[in-house]
Amino acid sequence: MKPADASNALIHVLEDEPEIGRLICDALTEYGFRSELSGTGRQFLQRARQGNPDLCIIDLGLPDMDGMQVVRELQEKQPCAVLILTGRNDVTDRVLGLELGADDYIVKPFEPRELVARVRSILRRYLRNPQPEATTEPQTARFAGWLFDIQRLTLQSPEGRETHLSAAEAGLLTTLLRRPNKILNREQLLGERDVAPFDRSIDVRISRLRRKLEEDPQNPRIIKTVYGAGYMLTASVDWS
Ligand code: CA
Repeated sequence: MKPADASNALIHVLEDEPEIGRLICDALTEYGFRSELSGTGRQFLQRARQGNPDLCIIDLGLPDMDGMQVVRELQEKQPCAVLILTGRNDVTDRVLGLELGADDYIVKPFEPRELVARVRSILRRYLRNPQPEATTEPQTARFAGWLFDIQRLTLQSPEGRETHLSAAEAGLLTTLLRRPNKILNREQLLGERDVAPFDRSIDVRISRLRRKLEEDPQNPRIIKTVYGAGYMLTASVDWS
């Protein structure tokens, strides 16, 4: 999330099978990334907190923890880009991974080159929508009683309850809040140049945001679906 260019990005890898872990790290090194390998969920979470990685590659099948739980804890404590590795061809797990704030997944076995391509694609997306540093850009948005803080990735409800957003959710919400009451199509929501690694990702992120924002996510009032066109945030937005 923070690198000025993707080539030097720090990638933390969580994989309990040493051979696969080494294969991943070798491929990342070959393409100029820095990497660090952990074999257990606990070790990985501790290192991620200290190391401030730009992207994490997380295997779901682990000896000590449920991989989903690892993703959840990571996003709460050290939000960053996440690529999920899974040996299970389980659609529910895949979608769940995305709902938890992962950016993409790759199913084992995979080609190292394919993995590196996914990593690059995710990092490009983050670099195009970098976290604003201490700039003059407005950092908080008020809308429909909610308060969104870009820096802290938090949403405060009208009742004062605070919810944490993943980096991917926050990016999408920022895009919607910058152009309220306008229909935004998928490409606009993803950014101009990149193609989504899989086209459901925007829908999944929207439904995740709705579950956090909407009283009744089935009948959304803030983020509306415009059938065949895209999504629209219907609220007046006050940036400061
Ligand atoms: Ca495993």
